[in-house]
Amino acid sequence: MKIARYEDKGRVRYGLVDPEGGNVREIAAADPFGRVEATGVVRRIEEVRLLAPVVPGKIVAVGLNYRDHAREMGKMIPEEPLLFLKAPSALNDPGGEIVYPSQSQRVDYEAELAVVIGRKAKNVEERNAAAHILGYTCINDVTARDLQVKDVQYTRAKGFDTFAPLGPWIVTGFDPTEASVRCLVNGEVRQDGNTREMGASVYRLVEFISSVMTLFPGDVIATGTPPGVGSLHVGDVVTIEVGGIGALTNRVVAP
Ligand code: MG
Repeated sequence: MKIARYEDKGRVRYGLVDPEGGNVREIAAADPFGRVEATGVVRRIEEVRLLAPVVPGKIVAVGLNYRDHAREMGKMIPEEPLLFLKAPSALNDPGGEIVYPSQSQRVDYEAELAVVIGRKAKNVEERNAAAHILGYTCINDVTARDLQVKDVQYTRAKGFDTFAPLGPWIVTGFDPTEASVRCLVNGEVRQDGNTREMGASVYRLVEFISSVMTLFPGDVIATGTPPGVGSLHVGDVVTIEVGGIGALTNRVVAP
């Protein structure tokens, strides 16, 4: 299933996107974590405005989870996953504008596979992790790199409003172990990785994170970025693509 969240005539709804992608079928429930039943209302996908497919209580992100990205940052993959939190207020929609903050001179894209939690997870073992995952989508972990270096920790650099584009929809029944993760800027490929190059797998991350903090339905895990990170400029159009999921496109605008 492809689960979308969208605005239809001023109302926010969840719906299921057809396999061909042309239509979205509204579901009755206020969220996609329980039973999903169609109401019978069907819209063309162009008729609605896609929103970030979930409103997370928290976004748990993983640093340096791809060996070659760690190397390009002059680091090693950490022994244990390196976690940080991205402010939920940074959430941005497919097609939304990324606002380049005046405090930064260097804003980077980071293409990542995003995990959407479907069932409360506390101390979940790796082998049981899949049962706690609703599905997967794309996230751009936009980062003010100069401020990340200056501050040492990541709250400001990763936390600006609009710095967490998420979408375009959640794909269920998806295999996260071998998916391409790409970033394109103005149509040019800048990152071209695969989740098989991750240090800690998605299931290991659920185990590790849920041993620290409870994950709730709707929480998002940003699983780290492959090599090729680089800067964005005002006017750029940036697309994150995960094979088998879709494309998440945003434009960078001046403050
Ligand atoms: Mg990242």
